[in-house]
Amino acid sequence: CGIVGILGTHEVSPIILEALKRLEYRGYDSAGIATVNGGALDRRRAVGKLVNLSDRLVHDPLPGRSGIGHTRWATHGGPSEANAHPHRAGPVAVVHNGIIENYAALRTELAERGLAWESETDTETVALLVQAAMADGAGPVDAVRATLGRLHGAFALAFLFDGQDDLMICARRGSPLAIGWGEGEMYLGSDAIALAPMTSVITYLEDGDWAVMTRHGATVHDAQGAVVDRPRTRIDTAA
Ligand code: GLU
Repeated sequence: CGIVGILGTHEVSPIILEALKRLEYRGYDSAGIATVNGGALDRRRAVGKLVNLSDRLVHDPLPGRSGIGHTRWATHGGPSEANAHPHRAGPVAVVHNGIIENYAALRTELAERGLAWESETDTETVALLVQAAMADGAGPVDAVRATLGRLHGAFALAFLFDGQDDLMICARRGSPLAIGWGEGEMYLGSDAIALAPMTSVITYLEDGDWAVMTRHGATVHDAQGAVVDRPRTRIDTAA
């Protein structure tokens, strides 16, 4: 239901948690964060309020300066830790707002390839498709591009990759997504309000856009894959 991403210069888990709190008004049943730390992708998830996730992080910290976070409003698969985002398959972790309409057909196809899943969500099919493309030799960008071409439905997505401390990929079709610009840091939010404490400079993705982000900027592509220039706007950070 809510997405936050940071390619930062400080530990991101506490900042992502604060940003997720700003999205609490949208409602949610579980939450989670993934980070890349020294190249290693890892995640923590918890059912219920964000305080459950922050308690988890106190006992089992999640270091790293690159991260994605999510508050989930379950549509496919009940509220449980296994169904909470981020979903991981091999080298990729993904958070998702919305619904993958053709997930059942994709699951059948993935099962035929011998891929196993851990959740009942539509979202995990996205992680598995990216994993399968990377196993076939694609890099992260091409794997996401190929996966997006397979998905039907309305979604906002954010991806992190094992071994990639300075890479985040995001995509929007139907669900809103905003990129935030910082000083040697970049941010992502399903809502500019989530980013308000971090930056006032926002690029709203248009429908069908997807973007490749590093700490130093974002390259936005339209649905056809062409690189496009989307304006930066200044928002009122007092909001
Ligand atoms: N359809 C996904 C799920 O049920 C995402 C729900 C959401 O937008 O939070 O896990």
